[in-house]
Amino acid sequence: MFYKVSLLVCCISAICSSLLAKVVFVAPTGNNANAGTITSPFLTIQRAQEAVSAGDTVYIRGGKYIMTDSLVASFSGNWAYVTFLTKSGKPNKRINYWAYPNETPFFDYTAVKPAGYRVNAFQVNASYLHIKGIEVVGVQVTQTNHTQSECFENQGSFNIYEMLKMHDGKAIGFYLNKGGNNLILNCDAYNNWDNVSENKLGGNVDGFGCHPKGDSLGYVNNVFKGCRAWFNSDDGYDCINAFEATTFENCWSFFNGYSSSFTSLGDGNGFKAGGYGLSATRAIPSSMPRNVIRFCLAVGNKANGFYANHHLGGSDWFNNTANGNAINFNMLNRSSSRQSDGAGYGHNLKNNLSYNARVSEYANIDFDACNADTNSFNLSVNVSKTDFISLDQTLLSVPRQADGSLPNIDFMKLTNNSSLIDKGENIGFPFVGAAPDLGCFESNYSKNPKAKRKVGIDKKVN
Ligand code: CA
Ligand code: CA
Repeated sequence: MFYKVSLLVCCISAICSSLLAKVVFVAPTGNNANAGTITSPFLTIQRAQEAVSAGDTVYIRGGKYIMTDSLVASFSGNWAYVTFLTKSGKPNKRINYWAYPNETPFFDYTAVKPAGYRVNAFQVNASYLHIKGIEVVGVQVTQTNHTQSECFENQGSFNIYEMLKMHDGKAIGFYLNKGGNNLILNCDAYNNWDNVSENKLGGNVDGFGCHPKGDSLGYVNNVFKGCRAWFNSDDGYDCINAFEATTFENCWSFFNGYSSSFTSLGDGNGFKAGGYGLSATRAIPSSMPRNVIRFCLAVGNKANGFYANHHLGGSDWFNNTANGNAINFNMLNRSSSRQSDGAGYGHNLKNNLSYNARVSEYANIDFDACNADTNSFNLSVNVSKTDFISLDQTLLSVPRQADGSLPNIDFMKLTNNSSLIDKGENIGFPFVGAAPDLGCFESNYSKNPKAKRKVGIDKKVN
């Protein structure tokens, strides 16, 4: 009886709280003097923030938002924050900044050029937010010395960034330097090149950067899932300065380090997972973060597909596929004294698939100091084009599925008679057939007809 009453009270309070949750609207034709209703929308997300609190939703209508210097919300140091989100939600009551269903809000920053300032289109110094479905284009760089601009910078925790497109600008797509437990889900960063500052090669412009600074600040569990990065002038994904571990899962990275016409630009790594080591005096974490890179795909990047980047410890590289990078898997580590570089130690490399690297399938792996025995490059398998349904790289950038998940393409999926099927080792993830396949795409086909079919890789939002 008590249970039933509590349940009723819970239901009533849930209904009340959802009835109380406010919805406000932003539209390209809006005005910040309006009431924020669907028929009388605000013009800016900045204005909408003032009107909402935990549990509320801002719907952003489709169309083109022309951003200008006069819309910059805050100048802080040498940063210009065009939209500055400082109001947090609460656990289970996020503040939502969502594209209105079936519409695409397109924010154009081409005209935002405050002299002497770095430009951050969205500066997020708040937690428990969910930002979804926004397109950010044309973010500028105005300085010619060392600098960077960013489409989204996160300094909060428990945020979700979903279905964002950050492209055709001079800025980093997504950049995290504080905060933990953030999920970056199904976002695309492409055609980003800073051709203004320093040597004009865009050496700071990664698609996604995760660099939580400082020890023991709770900046853990930042996860990138289902994201794509291509034609960014530096790296696809970079966690060179992360003091805590980052997870990359089901993410694709291709043609980074090049312009969209394949001019050679910055570093050009697919996944640069690690760092610190080059200077013996540079601050390092008290315990070395063990990054996780699993079910990811790196294709045609200028330098390495999967790169340990002088890290001072090992990471977990599981079921990744690399094709046509200079070096597909480069586990280069720094010695613990930070005096010299050498072959990677402490890495777990399992079920990875390497095909047709431009220079070398792998490099810098001390196999005695790593747990690396079930990869295409150290199993007795021959990888050839007949293993794959398609090698058409143009498929990688086709539109996503309606729910935002990665497109379902045949690129580097295994043919039914591929010898790479069931060649992996059971490392605790779901698989089909007798054993996991090599690479990031588990085949539906089993070499063992009696094997019980299991479900595919979990794609749910966590
Ligand atoms: Ca980089
Ligand atoms: Ca299998």
